[in-house]
Amino acid sequence: MNFEHDPTDILERLAQLRLADAPTHGGRVLSYVYDSGLAELDELAASAIRAVQPVNGLDPTTFTSVAVMEREVVEFARDLLGGDSDVVGTVTTGGTESCLLAVKTARDVWRGVGSAARSGTPRLLAPVTVHAAFHKAAHYFGLQLDLVPVGADGIVVASDLIARFGDDVALVVVSAPSYPHAAMDPVAEVAAAAAKQSIACHVDACIGGWVLPFWDGVAPWNFAVLGVTSISADLHKFGYAPKGVSVLLQRGRDRQRAQFFATTEWPGYPVVNPTILGSKSAGPLAAAWAIIQALGTRGLAELAQSCARSTRAVRDVIAEIEGLRVVGDPVGPLVAVASDEAVPADRRVDAHHWADQVRAHGFLLQLQPSLAQSDGTVLPATTHLTITPVTESVLDELSAALRLAADEVRGTPAVSAEVVLAALPSEVGAALLAPDAPPLSAQEAAAILTMMGLEKASEGLPARMAPLLALIGALPASLTERLLTELIARLVEPTP
Ligand SMILES: *Cc1c(COP(=O)(O)O)cnc(C)c1O
Repeated sequence: MNFEHDPTDILERLAQLRLADAPTHGGRVLSYVYDSGLAELDELAASAIRAVQPVNGLDPTTFTSVAVMEREVVEFARDLLGGDSDVVGTVTTGGTESCLLAVKTARDVWRGVGSAARSGTPRLLAPVTVHAAFHKAAHYFGLQLDLVPVGADGIVVASDLIARFGDDVALVVVSAPSYPHAAMDPVAEVAAAAAKQSIACHVDACIGGWVLPFWDGVAPWNFAVLGVTSISADLHKFGYAPKGVSVLLQRGRDRQRAQFFATTEWPGYPVVNPTILGSKSAGPLAAAWAIIQALGTRGLAELAQSCARSTRAVRDVIAEIEGLRVVGDPVGPLVAVASDEAVPADRRVDAHHWADQVRAHGFLLQLQPSLAQSDGTVLPATTHLTITPVTESVLDELSAALRLAADEVRGTPAVSAEVVLAALPSEVGAALLAPDAPPLSAQEAAAILTMMGLEKASEGLPARMAPLLALIGALPASLTERLLTELIARLVEPTP
């Protein structure tokens, strides 16, 4: 066939587009990407993906390679996470899908309990630091999300969580560790109390699952803990696989079967889906499977040790920077950094100005907004760093950038949301602050974004994110959620 465009030209254009992306390798982006620093591992993954490119992961009886690879990945994960023969699992397309399925399973098990099946709205109980994927799960599956405040260290007090146990709780979730602050939740206490009341307990180890087994001094958190009923662990994080692969392990076959959806009540092929998708790629599974075999536990341990060395070094650098502090006592290769309120205001470093300034020096950190908790306390604005094995190769440069950026913004007060609002055209400020305003139409939301100077998001984010984060921290969540939805939706709209 004569193609409309030459494949060489198409790939050339793709290469051009990729140049505009944040760099996925080399340690300059300290979130989103998990670079082992081993080029041969990426090559192996690419070859494994190519080998299964045409396969449909929908049907492991037709494409039996999928069943073999998935079984071997689940077995490896089960052994790593302290599971016995009662623990079974599924490979999913990512952390969010693992979390969604943990919630859906717990909801359906909860509904089925007792002689008369339970009705009403089940509750999903978790610390406020639980990953947003659980907000999504509660929303999708009709559970009431009950979020418990955490302390200034980002850790929930076990008794605060346990005090909220009740017959309507379908699932309690704890994190090992949490994404925002790398806080290790009190897994053993919560799981033991949950077991006594027959409440399912999920450990979200999406980020920790493949690295904490090799981390020193971590309190028990896996299936060795009685009462833990499921664990999510992402292979596309510290399993170093390309995006699109995670595992969800569940204790008990009967529990796990509630994860599945099956129907024979349509005139097509019988459907049995352990996960949310139907037809699906086997690529990320094959890549993860190959990487696990190449690394083995010894290789994973070596990479984890590199992460541990770099995390220690980064924490030491931040501890030495006047005006910044690490939040709590993070566990695992991630840290949240906040402004140090213990020093005078003119010596403080605002965490978001700092992140923007570090970006100007070539490293992309992740800004996290402040959050008011239900008890009135406020979690401060923070900047998040995820450390990966590749970090070690840029450690000196990164440390210098962290120090220099702090020196450059020390004493600059945090962006005030009021000031940002006052600088906007008056009709925008009025629209943003109008109480009980009707929901914005797509056009109204877009007009506000334009007046805020955010209509060019498709060309990348503004160089300074601190003002946007200040608004997110200050404006009603429903409003910022609406505006950000508009911003993202418009990125992929065809040009008029
Ligand atoms: C990354 C993460 C998730 C969600 O994972 P995705 O792979 O981004 O869908 C859930 N929980 C925690 C703690 C995470 O770090």
